[in-house]
Amino acid sequence: MPLINMRDMIYHAYENSYAVGAFDLVSLDFLEAVIDSAERCRAPVILSIAEPHFAHFDFELMMPAVEAAAKRASIPVAIQLDHASDLNTAIKAIGLGCNGVMFDASNLSLHENISATKEIVDMAHNCGIPVIGEQGYVAGIEGEGAKQHPGESILTSPAEACAYVERTGIDFLAVSIGTVQGRMKSKAKLDFTRLKQLNQAVNIPLVIHGGSGLNEDQFRRLITHGVAKINYFTGLSDIAAQTMREKVKTVAAGSFTDLKQGVKEAIGKEVERCLKVWGSAGRAAEVLAQCEPWTPIEHLITYNVEQLDEWDANIMMNEGRRILSEIPGVREVFAGEAIKEGAKYRFCWMVRFTHKSAVESYHAHPNHAIFSDKLLRPYARDKLSIDFKDGATTNAFFVGGSASVRLTRCSS
Ligand SMILES: [Zn+2]
Repeated sequence: MPLINMRDMIYHAYENSYAVGAFDLVSLDFLEAVIDSAERCRAPVILSIAEPHFAHFDFELMMPAVEAAAKRASIPVAIQLDHASDLNTAIKAIGLGCNGVMFDASNLSLHENISATKEIVDMAHNCGIPVIGEQGYVAGIEGEGAKQHPGESILTSPAEACAYVERTGIDFLAVSIGTVQGRMKSKAKLDFTRLKQLNQAVNIPLVIHGGSGLNEDQFRRLITHGVAKINYFTGLSDIAAQTMREKVKTVAAGSFTDLKQGVKEAIGKEVERCLKVWGSAGRAAEVLAQCEPWTPIEHLITYNVEQLDEWDANIMMNEGRRILSEIPGVREVFAGEAIKEGAKYRFCWMVRFTHKSAVESYHAHPNHAIFSDKLLRPYARDKLSIDFKDGATTNAFFVGGSASVRLTRCSS
């Protein structure tokens, strides 16, 4: 249940002067290490899946594990797609369960960045999902992520950042003030004067990419000047690799599982250190109390058909499933027929949405109009249509006592 609204989570950090960690995951070791450390520290956390890492795992297979970890957690969790490069990947990620999107068109001109980002923001906001945009450019020097971010960094200009935020409607701004994607060669020189100006100019929470390699004092100063979310990956990746290199020295002929022994623990220790330095440790309870739970919505239609034989009814269901699944914010479409002969309603549609905001945009979407006008209305009679919210989230209060609770039937 503790999947929560990422917008609320980051604003809680912004208003209470700490930063939430967004840790990129490239395997189950990373996922387990991050979630276990956040549990130990009672910290809100963002599980992050970066598009530039898609070569290392199957995104569609990874997401159910990430979502299961979030739902099982007792601390507040959000799931973001990091460094999304286009609209389709963002739509797909939302369909797979991401409730935050970081869109990166920072390599484009300001004008092009604004128009590409705006398109993502409009789509994501229709689904109730916040967007992080980046203006200025954070390049990579060496280590993970360096290859995907070639060239020289361009520091974020406060005037351009203002125009970018205003014209795109992004929720959070990733800034370039001297960090790098990947590994630093020497101590990073951060432009805190620029950061202060940016914070005053844009007036929304700021995000830092390339947090690996900064010292505690630098982190604290970032947070003082409006940074409420820190992306962190290279530090974890390097520690995992170092642990394996050490292991090779003692068990050179060891198996894969021998060699990766201790990796999860090493990643977890570094995550814990970060959560403590950034001030998010110990914040879980207040975040849970103050932030919106992320509640899926289920839209149910039951109906009978006329003028259609079974063959046509199947065509109608297949076609409907296809066009409804394309609507952003729709996570799953189920079209089925009653098992029981003589059921009051013969057919049903169940459409699962990421969030209640998506229901409205679903009804306004052209694909919904086609479904409704061409497939459903002409043939369906006795139609019943209801929206349900997930009881696992809304009734979480009752879960602890369920073993001793007995359901009693009302006699009147
Ligand atoms: Zn990044």
